[in-house]
Amino acid sequence: MRLSRYFMPILKENPKEAEIVSHRLMLRAGMIRQQSQGIYSWLPLGKRVLDKVNAVIREEQNRAGAIELSMPTLQSAELWQESGRYDAYGKEMLRIKDRQERPMLYGPTNEEMVTDIFRASVKSYKDLPLNLYHIQLKFRDEIRPRFGTMRSREFMMKDAYSFDLTREAAEHSYNKMFAAYLRTFDRLGLRAIPMRADTGPIGGNLSHEFIILADTGESEVFCHKDFVGFDIPGERTDFDSVEGLQAIFDKWTSLYAATSEMHDEAAFNAIPEGERLSARGIEVGHIFYFGTKYSEPMGAKVQGPDGKEHFVHMGSYGIGPTRLVPAIIEASHDDNGIIWPASVAPFDVVVINMKAGDEACDDTCELIYAALTKAGKDVLYDDTDDRAGTKFATADLIGVPLQIIAGPRAVANGEVEVKDRKTGARETMTIEAAINRFVA
Ligand code: ATP
Ligand code: MG
Repeated sequence: MRLSRYFMPILKENPKEAEIVSHRLMLRAGMIRQQSQGIYSWLPLGKRVLDKVNAVIREEQNRAGAIELSMPTLQSAELWQESGRYDAYGKEMLRIKDRQERPMLYGPTNEEMVTDIFRASVKSYKDLPLNLYHIQLKFRDEIRPRFGTMRSREFMMKDAYSFDLTREAAEHSYNKMFAAYLRTFDRLGLRAIPMRADTGPIGGNLSHEFIILADTGESEVFCHKDFVGFDIPGERTDFDSVEGLQAIFDKWTSLYAATSEMHDEAAFNAIPEGERLSARGIEVGHIFYFGTKYSEPMGAKVQGPDGKEHFVHMGSYGIGPTRLVPAIIEASHDDNGIIWPASVAPFDVVVINMKAGDEACDDTCELIYAALTKAGKDVLYDDTDDRAGTKFATADLIGVPLQIIAGPRAVANGEVEVKDRKTGARETMTIEAAINRFVA
């Protein structure tokens, strides 16, 4: 992508409305724009990051055996009347009428709809286990939307829903998502700690929130500090192994970890003082097992091996991609801007032409841009005629992990500089070596 032809509306000034660093940096880097309270457009740079976050989420959901589909944002009120949540949900639900005066709503979550899809076609235990997910916009009329896309009214959610014949089988499905979440957040460069959670309006009795530690987090959390160093389940994790996944779950729930709602002061104080961690955190994921809470009222049942009909045991599993993007920034930035982990960086590398219009600089940059693009890299080429200082500041602000800097003096020697955004380390090398470093 040539910056001269891209759309990346950088702000020079710090936006006054932004209270936390991620919101400030997302606005300054031209990633998002608020359209009305708590409702955002994702501008091209932000969209790239969001897509990469979703790609990681999708890969790990698929690895754990979940199957992607797509459900609509607008739902009929009827389904929610069946489950009893139409009245229970309250003001967070945006209720709408269509031209025939039929009550509709903008989905805050999809338990009812997916249960409807399930009951229409699954009739036998032989079709279980089943886990269906989508990545879709939700709307919750939050009383206090704030911090940009961290807490917005319209937001994106990956929500998965599992169906099993028995509680035991449902717990295995729960453990699959538990392990998939550990892997997902790790790949996004985050250390997320599962904490026992309240089940809230979703209902049920087994639930964990995945919390990342950050000073600007809205939740108060308490846990054992060993969680910070725990091993993440590897790529070869066997998701069909009941014992293997139970062992992962047991290990990751063996120590104390709770948000303030579930906090047990006495249990926490029983941990030796030097091993306690009391901090603030951001909830990036939440998983629930809720048994037959929806399958009973909505009549979702299958025939078991005993020939009888059984209401299915369900769970639901949410991750907030539009919250994860700012959460990653909260965890990874410095005074100059964002520092993206490679897995979600909007571009792999930015090529900075320090003197656009200078024939040698232009030729060198074009050569590098073409070679890296051909190698399948996402390359941003700063071919604008801005001052070098402005270009450096922009490259640092948008947080692309590596920069290739081509200035007239180095180029005259057949060289460029490669800068690591995170460490700030710069290395001069031949043009060929710079290309090989990315291609190899
Ligand atoms: P919170 O406690 O932060 O209001 P929640 O418990 O209501 O969230 P869940 O129903 O558990 O949220 O939703 C699953 C995930 O969706 C959350 O873990 C979070 O990542 C994301 N999410 C929920 N509400 C919002 C929001 N208003 N803005 C952005 N992301 C959200
Ligand atoms: Mg939650």
